[in-house]
Amino acid sequence: MNAEKPVLLVTGGSRGIGAAVRLGAALQGWRVAVNYASNAQAAEKVVAEILTVGGEAMAVQGDVGSEAGIATMFAAVDETFGRLDGLVNNAGIVDVPARIDEMSAERLERMFRINVTGSIRCAAEAVRRMSNRYSGKGGVIVNVSSMAAVLGSGGQYVDYAASKGAIDTFTLGLAREVATEGIRVNAVRPGVIDTDIHASGGLPDRARDMASSIPLQRAGEASEVADSILYLLSLRHPMSRVPFSMSAADAKCS
Ligand code: NAP
Repeated sequence: MNAEKPVLLVTGGSRGIGAAVRLGAALQGWRVAVNYASNAQAAEKVVAEILTVGGEAMAVQGDVGSEAGIATMFAAVDETFGRLDGLVNNAGIVDVPARIDEMSAERLERMFRINVTGSIRCAAEAVRRMSNRYSGKGGVIVNVSSMAAVLGSGGQYVDYAASKGAIDTFTLGLAREVATEGIRVNAVRPGVIDTDIHASGGLPDRARDMASSIPLQRAGEASEVADSILYLLSLRHPMSRVPFSMSAADAKCS
């Protein structure tokens, strides 16, 4: 294990957009902690692919919708890698389409506990490890929002859209809060992306069905979102314009 290499935690890294970050992150030089909630097999597959390209990775179970799950996940990263330099706050859920007058309090509580509180609590744990206020070496946080935050998802799932609106506001505030502590915070706001999330919301064909309403006439691919996340990850330190994966020698030559 190369202790000099930075460590990246991707919540919900076992499938979909989170999983698509894997190879690029390994090639950028990250050691990757691949978080999952229940599908250990999918997470182990992602880890195996990173190892195949010569990277370092571990699968780490932890429900971001629970304090115990978050604590377990960060403890595992501490124990295995001993440092944290990047967090992709990607784990998120939708629910079945419903009007607001059909949404139960339990549904709303779950939506906000996983999508909002989970992301904020994971960011807090990351800040404790990265901030130079706590002797950390700085780092980068990328939150995964959604275009639903802008469009509102009326008639589909306004609760999900509102949870992503909260992520947008949180991203702005946190970016300003920790900018002088060596931590860069950004968010990506994907449109409709072809992943399993739509099936988990009861609409397995949603990505294809939405194609005609999308300017490109197709849903996005997870790898396209991953490229944006990887770019933001490459800008690790807010005081530096040099992508951290470049060596000092490379930077001098450019
Ligand atoms: P996905 O294909 O359903 O994958 C979800 C991932 O999150 C899986 O790795 C899953 O782990 C994990 N996960 C779910 N609940 C979790 C929890 N409570 N704790 C820890 N991990 C959990 O989803 P996706 O489409 O890639 O979405 C990823 C992110 O992008 C979400 O935040 C979503 O809101 C956002 N997004 C997606 C779209 C889209 O159209 N797909 C558009 C805009 C934004 P398991 O495998 O163990 O279940």
